[in-house]
Amino acid sequence: MVNTPTISKDNIWSILETVTDPEVPVLTITDLGIVRDVILHPPLGDGGIEVIITPTYTGCPAMDMIAMNIKLALIENGFQNIKITSVLSPVWTTDWMSEDGKRKLKEYGIAPPNPRQQVCNNDLFAAAEAIQCPHCNSHHTHRISEFGSTACKSLYQCDDCKEPFDYFKCH
Ligand SMILES: [Zn+2]
Repeated sequence: MVNTPTISKDNIWSILETVTDPEVPVLTITDLGIVRDVILHPPLGDGGIEVIITPTYTGCPAMDMIAMNIKLALIENGFQNIKITSVLSPVWTTDWMSEDGKRKLKEYGIAPPNPRQQVCNNDLFAAAEAIQCPHCNSHHTHRISEFGSTACKSLYQCDDCKEPFDYFKCH
């Protein structure tokens, strides 16, 4: 039996920082910026711990797994009565991803969302915007497919090193 942990928001946040994205295991959910808030319901925590998350992509199947992983991580640390609430508004944007997260994404071989690409869902704009190859940093890349290894990513290929890579779609 796990000892009853100290219930504090900091404690919960430090546990959340260990929960990784099932699709990109190098990223934690706090890197992604999807945890919006932690609420301790009175009496302090006994009324339940609520974790507010905003899905990165609506309908992204990974989100169910993320909610499950959050619960499991908290349970493993001795917490109980955990509620995960998804809040769809305001909509998650790639701006919420931490700089650390973007760096880890690139090291993992996935092009991080391009911060200059503000109009993300505009295909014309996306096509005009050069995505940097995470392998050789070349901007000579082209999109092979709208959908990469998951619906959240597009598949690109580098014209210089010829390596295909996933681009974490701007949202
Ligand atoms: Zn390259």
